[in-house]
Amino acid sequence: MKTRHILQAWGKILAGRFPSLSIEVTRECPLSCPGCYAYGNDHLGGALVLRGVRDFKGQELIDGILKIVEAYRPLHVSLVGGEPLVRHRELTALLPLLEARNIHTQVVTSAVRPIPDEWREHRNLNVAVSIDGLQPEHDARRKPATYTHILKHIAGHRITVHCTITRQMTERPGYLREFLDFWSPRPEVRRIWFSLFTPQKGETSYEILPRQVRAGVLDELGVLKNEYPKLDLAEAVLRVYRNPPRNPDECLFARTTLPISADLKTIVTPCQFGGTPDCSQCGCFASAALGAVLRHRLPLGLSLGTLYEASCAVGDWMKSLRRSKAAEGRSGRGAGEQRTRGADG
Ligand code: SF4
Ligand code: SF4
Repeated sequence: MKTRHILQAWGKILAGRFPSLSIEVTRECPLSCPGCYAYGNDHLGGALVLRGVRDFKGQELIDGILKIVEAYRPLHVSLVGGEPLVRHRELTALLPLLEARNIHTQVVTSAVRPIPDEWREHRNLNVAVSIDGLQPEHDARRKPATYTHILKHIAGHRITVHCTITRQMTERPGYLREFLDFWSPRPEVRRIWFSLFTPQKGETSYEILPRQVRAGVLDELGVLKNEYPKLDLAEAVLRVYRNPPRNPDECLFARTTLPISADLKTIVTPCQFGGTPDCSQCGCFASAALGAVLRHRLPLGLSLGTLYEASCAVGDWMKSLRRSKAAEGRSGRGAGEQRTRGADG
């Protein structure tokens, strides 16, 4: 992350705004991955499930996303799903409009469909393709987005490989090295990110990395990052994986990114996982990367975290000022905080 980006994000926090949005652009997905949090019963808090929310297509989707962007004026927008490529036509029309607003955009996809050729033109776009393990395990988990399809669909693009490490990948020594040997040399691959499977509180699925196994994986990644330049993993990020935020209040990612579901109004809380994620086992790369920023110490021993808390207090004050001004303009309409809220920051 460049200093310019940190300063811009700080400006948003001081103004009481979210520097980053994560938007579930559709409720649809042709995959049914084990451990998928988006389709979990508690993802949207229990009363709603992703497959049950209204979603949008065509110009309505483009206009709906732009309306949110105009309201929040973020620096970064992550377009997730469901599977965003289900709405590839809409995204192809939307991406230049986001770029024109100087917004950095990320599309998180399974690459189950071809990535449109037009997307190659965008300087501010990161396409993160989820590839969970070597071909036999990945194909079993993520068909129809198999290795064969992914390799065909990313041809000619520059993508980020995003692998979520599950327990199954830790059971054979050398597995992660083999994964890096396969993906690192490929010209389409700009960089490689590793997340660790993040369970919900009380979850007992086999995907979860037991504590000892997690510690071993992090030690191994500490070695591999020195051998594979495309493995984007700073030592400071590994430190956060070893000691994740204790709760969403301590998580810079959760506090600076607003996740919005496919109806374009339901807020996913407390972070993009929804439900009640177990922060003590968090393996989210974005959370760890931002956590590393938060723990960075400035000269004079002040941590960015301390500065952030002070900035948030100013931001909260700015937010309440905006709300009371808005309330003055309304008469008799309720404007309370709730899980579903309008895009008023
Ligand atoms: S591709 Fe993503 S949204 Fe679709 S089932 Fe898999 S994890 Fe869930
Ligand atoms: S991203 Fe991780 S640490 Fe942050 S709130 Fe979600 S589970 Fe907790």
